[in-house]
Amino acid sequence: MLNIAITGGGPVGLTLARLLLQSSTSTSVNITIYEKDASRTSRTSFGGTLDLHPETGLAAIKQMNVWDEFLKYARFEGEELRICDLNGTVYVHQTEAPQLKGFQARPEIDRVRLMQVLLESVPNELIRWGKALKEVVREDDQWKLKFDDGSVAGPFDLIVGADGAWSKVRKALTDVEPSYAGICGVAGSIDKESAGDTWDLISGMVGKGSNFCFSYGQSMMAQRLGDGNLKCSFYAQRERGWVDDLKANHTGDDDALKRILLENYQEWDNDFKQWIVAAKELWSAPLFELPVGQRFDHKGEITLIGDAAHLMTPFAGEGVNAGMRDALDLVGAIEKSVTEKTDLDLAVQAWEESMFERSAVFMADTMVNKLGMFAQDAPYSFFAAMIGVFARANGYDVKQGWMSWLPVTKTAYAFVWAIGTCGVVRRHVIDIFRGQQQRFPVWDKR
Ligand SMILES: Cc1cc2nc3c(=O)[nH]c(=O)nc-3n(C[C@H](O)[C@H](O)[C@H](O)COP(=O)(O)OP(=O)(O)OC[C@H]3O[C@@H](n4cnc5c(N)ncnc54)[C@H](O)[C@@H]3O)c2cc1C
Repeated sequence: MLNIAITGGGPVGLTLARLLLQSSTSTSVNITIYEKDASRTSRTSFGGTLDLHPETGLAAIKQMNVWDEFLKYARFEGEELRICDLNGTVYVHQTEAPQLKGFQARPEIDRVRLMQVLLESVPNELIRWGKALKEVVREDDQWKLKFDDGSVAGPFDLIVGADGAWSKVRKALTDVEPSYAGICGVAGSIDKESAGDTWDLISGMVGKGSNFCFSYGQSMMAQRLGDGNLKCSFYAQRERGWVDDLKANHTGDDDALKRILLENYQEWDNDFKQWIVAAKELWSAPLFELPVGQRFDHKGEITLIGDAAHLMTPFAGEGVNAGMRDALDLVGAIEKSVTEKTDLDLAVQAWEESMFERSAVFMADTMVNKLGMFAQDAPYSFFAAMIGVFARANGYDVKQGWMSWLPVTKTAYAFVWAIGTCGVVRRHVIDIFRGQQQRFPVWDKR
């Protein structure tokens, strides 16, 4: 019997547990999940919405045999997407998933619903709630788990660290810690009550899916949730101290925080500023990331998956997808090793190599998006960079072969810049007709 410990019962840890239970070796494995949350119901907020991708998150969902449950909450219409700039110029309005090669359907699901589906798929008795891991220690040539409550568990045939961004398991494998990604901001929610008269306007701007708007190092993003309300965020490229200042000025008072935000977004179109005015339950947080191509030493009987292995910013929507793919492939490696009676450690080591390779691509794409979205000449830089990502998804490399002779990126940049410039003129004309030249007309009205 293989004794496997999973630290962290987040989406990736639960996916791994469910896949092991579904595998042909389910009768040969003993699984224990150690989760720091006190109980299944102790967490009150799970955040926003996630889109699952065909080759990664969706592939895992299908293999887990929870497809029908997933479909109850999946929102294919949630793929509606607008990409705008601060003047309200719409560069992209995708009303449904483009069925291009490499861009198949990526349905949205509320994180809380995904967690519900996953938690219901794993027997509760496998989860040790309220077990916050303190450290992983090596005793008598074996790894053991030490918890905050003083208890110790182990040894195990395999410890899988799925304990997220600030993984305690990672410390046993590498000294590298996540660093500040240069982006911080405020997130919150918007509903009919908080938006009042502006609900129809804001809701219309977001549609059934998302509106991502970024310009000159700042962003405003809003996404539709399953209950019809909106999740919003206001991120910017700033020194890390900016968030501390916001927190210091915030002191639990949303209005104070909103005033600071409005000052930071004073150049933005009034319709977008309404998002700030309508937002509620604001919280601020800096974003962290591991270096692109992050690896860790191979040490027997212990490994990492999900954010613990490859934390990245959310700007390519790959985090949970990459983690679920880790789980899918790791279970394949364990299954093969058990069936063929080969060394589990060698199987895990080989899996780690493939995981490093795959996650390096996700991390690099995420970095390209982050730099493009928050560059001082965004959104032009973002679209220019996206041409390369789009080409690669369709089997081309703009930096190699005949494509490297064409000014693909520069042409894309010039094209988007021309659209943006027309948008500036349009906004000036509208502002003149509306007479909206004062700084915070929306705020002042309230
Ligand atoms: C604002 C934001 C938006 C995002 N949007 C997207 C998106 O659209 N698409 C996408 O793919 N990804 C997105 N992500 C990333 C995604 O949330 C993560 O990649 C994903 O949650 C990783 O799952 P995980 O299970 O590895 O880690 P986590 O979700 O962090 O889960 C870790 C689990 O381990 C537990 N834990 C932590 N420490 C300990 C400990 N010491 N002992 C025991 N248990 C512990 C935690 O309680 C938690 O249950 C976003 C992230 C952020 C911050």
